[in-house]
Amino acid sequence: MKKSKKTLMICVCIAAALCVAAGIILFSVLRSHPSVWLAQGDDAVTEMDFEAELNGLSMMENTWETALPQTALYDLVRSHFDSPLPEGKTEKKAIVIGYDGCRVDAFRLLGTAKRSAVNMLLDNGGHAVFSYAGGVNYPAESTQKTSTAPGWCSMLTGVLADVHGVTANDTPKGVEPKSLLLSLVEEGKADSSAIYVSWAKHFSTKNGTYRAEKEYAEANGIPAVYLRAKNDRGTRQNILDDLAKADCSDFIFSTHEYTDHAGHGSGFSLQNIRYVSGFRDADATGADIIEAIENRPTYGSEDWLILITTDHGGIDKNHGGPSFEERITFIVSNREIPLGANE
Ligand SMILES: [Zn+2]
Repeated sequence: MKKSKKTLMICVCIAAALCVAAGIILFSVLRSHPSVWLAQGDDAVTEMDFEAELNGLSMMENTWETALPQTALYDLVRSHFDSPLPEGKTEKKAIVIGYDGCRVDAFRLLGTAKRSAVNMLLDNGGHAVFSYAGGVNYPAESTQKTSTAPGWCSMLTGVLADVHGVTANDTPKGVEPKSLLLSLVEEGKADSSAIYVSWAKHFSTKNGTYRAEKEYAEANGIPAVYLRAKNDRGTRQNILDDLAKADCSDFIFSTHEYTDHAGHGSGFSLQNIRYVSGFRDADATGADIIEAIENRPTYGSEDWLILITTDHGGIDKNHGGPSFEERITFIVSNREIPLGANE
């Protein structure tokens, strides 16, 4: 009797320990991925020649040969704030949702997406185009690195590295040329702006790209928020907190690291289930953000420009170089994207 009681106690202890261990594992999985996006078919994306993949993306309104320079993003934001308010609208707003290191061929996954910001825009009259990183389009020799800091900086300033000076990560930009975060506010086009990221090198390190801008904004009382979260979940929350305010920032810029982290960790490839999952997480986060915008009580009177883009692609576990896979990027918008200049 005594012996069986002891055995029972041991069994109960082992079961309890197993439950705790399972709980810890489940908790850490859920923390690292907001959702499990391994939809059926995700692990069966056939490998294709990259050019064939690009040619198969039927949602694109241009070809990779007529891709827009990534600086086109700057022009889209500028012209939005420069254009008159449409009838019935009282305020201009714009947001850039950046999926860092997202290869454009990830759009092959859109057909099986459960929750996708790109699909939300495209299903509601949005537009998608190819763009390119590296200063000039592939296959011409690239004039700047397909690295994070030069890429985003070209989009935020409208000029290339030879002008903004951010030729690599850890190369700080001066206050000039001012990014959209400062220029839109200083020129009175926007009342306020905010940049939400988790990557420290944007402005939280000594040589952070926008560190001088951040200090300039603080010193001059310019309502431009430079806020870094610990991770992508924090970035998402910072954006949702901003959008929950009645008078949210007029211009919001954000980068999300899911795809870049997965790429560096285990490969920028649709053959890599972690990279696929990274894209699912980024695109689901984008969907949460768009939903929050559309749920704003004042949404009906606001004139929103919503842009989704990336700074570069990737190949193997890296980017920065001149390859096709690193150079071709994308811009998705809820508005028309003029193609004229490059046709
Ligand atoms: Zn990047």
